[in-house]
Amino acid sequence: MKEIHYNSTRGLNGNYTASQAILKGISEDGGLFVPDSIPFVNEEELQKFKNMTYKELALCIIGKFFTDFTEDELKKCIDLAYDNKFESDEIVPVKKVGDVFYLELFHGPTLAFKDMALCLLPHLMQAAAKKQNLHKKIVILTATSGDTGKAALEGFADVEDTRIVVFFPEKGVSDIQKRQMVTQAGKNTKVIGIKGNFDDAQTEVKKIFNDEELKKELDEKSYMFSSANSINIGRLIPQVVYYFHGYMELLRKGQIKLGEKINFVVPTGNFGNILAAYYAKKMGLPINRLLCASNDNKVLYDFLKSGIYDAEREFIVTISPSMDILISSNLERFIYDISGNDFLVVQGLMKDLNKNRKYSVSENMKEKLKLLYGGFASEGETLNSISDVFKSYHYLMDTHTSVAYSVYRKYLQDTGDDTKTIIVSTASPFKFTKSVMSALDDKYKNQKDFDLIEVMSKTASLEVPKPIEKLMKSEVIHSTVCEKQQMKDEIRKFLL
Ligand SMILES: *Cc1c(COP(=O)(O)O)cnc(C)c1O
Repeated sequence: MKEIHYNSTRGLNGNYTASQAILKGISEDGGLFVPDSIPFVNEEELQKFKNMTYKELALCIIGKFFTDFTEDELKKCIDLAYDNKFESDEIVPVKKVGDVFYLELFHGPTLAFKDMALCLLPHLMQAAAKKQNLHKKIVILTATSGDTGKAALEGFADVEDTRIVVFFPEKGVSDIQKRQMVTQAGKNTKVIGIKGNFDDAQTEVKKIFNDEELKKELDEKSYMFSSANSINIGRLIPQVVYYFHGYMELLRKGQIKLGEKINFVVPTGNFGNILAAYYAKKMGLPINRLLCASNDNKVLYDFLKSGIYDAEREFIVTISPSMDILISSNLERFIYDISGNDFLVVQGLMKDLNKNRKYSVSENMKEKLKLLYGGFASEGETLNSISDVFKSYHYLMDTHTSVAYSVYRKYLQDTGDDTKTIIVSTASPFKFTKSVMSALDDKYKNQKDFDLIEVMSKTASLEVPKPIEKLMKSEVIHSTVCEKQQMKDEIRKFLL
């Protein structure tokens, strides 16, 4: 098998192995790590994938990218990641509803697709540290607006030789999200609310990462900081797997023939999920169109249409909060790809973005943006789709999945394309009970998320997912709230 090394989108040629890139998280020049080639899967191999379980498939696909891990090491990581934390052995069920298919990525411990990568990352990091002879304990520092924090906590809880500290805006997450975090068990976990918004938390965390004094103190105690942010290549590659899995499910269900192309619709925020789909396509997975779905924060939609990326606009708080994002970090990897791996172009565009919150790509690159179909859904459209699909099929989508479905409906109107299509379903409706139930009936609009769990269960004939049941019973473990200036001291208190 061909060895794969990782270099920066902004030019620094470290030629790092996968384990080095995973531990570093981001390149020293501020760029993101990209593989120096994308492995190709031919039809014969695709045929073999048909008989593989999710875990076997993961081993095969991830092994093609992380070539410095042995098969044994990877297998161990995968077995630890995708175990009975997941609701079913299938790991990722695919459901046919009407004429479309839903790739349900939300059956992990935190009920959102981020589990797919964050259950695996801690084990990859631990194995990578061993491989690099790093005798240090890894400290994950994260600022979260909701989903990432909990998924990272679940993933890292009680993983040997790691610690995890999560900061969240005290008043800026949903009731369920907050409860998910403050009830987190695990001796190596620490959750802290901050008086401020997500940006405050994020900015301070970035500062702490580069704080030389603290770094030295940590170093003396054999600690080192790392990041579980979605730009880590260790989070991106595990996501490539579920696109292959989705395709194989349609094949197994007899819905398509081998080689037949299908569409995927991806509800997009930081551009990680859809980038993984794009990598799958480059690997040879038969994909026709990739649909990039945005909510009212439609920076990506505008970009795909005009070639101008413009983050200088109002930030809109929507009912699909995990997609409320104006600077999609992972887009940098896509830009790098469509520039023909030209790091000078990327450097220039990222400089513009930092300085003016805006950049525009060349005509040539603009042409390549057509590789993706961009669409967006308003709040009203998102709510209507939840209600329509429920009335027609008794299937309940969460708000993020509904953005994707709504965009798909527009795409059908636009194109009449009758290619088989998978909607990437990123969260359980039980995470957003109030928004989802209000879509079905206005009378729920003033109720609390927690009070609607039973109601949702009855209405949709769905069992309450175990993690939610557990949540209602668990005790609050983390009650620290601090000013942003105290974040550093809280880290010291926890670690030193
Ligand atoms: C994070 C998230 C998204 C967006 O995914 P990206 O990889 O950031 O584009 C969509 N839906 C849900 C539920 C999420 O948690």
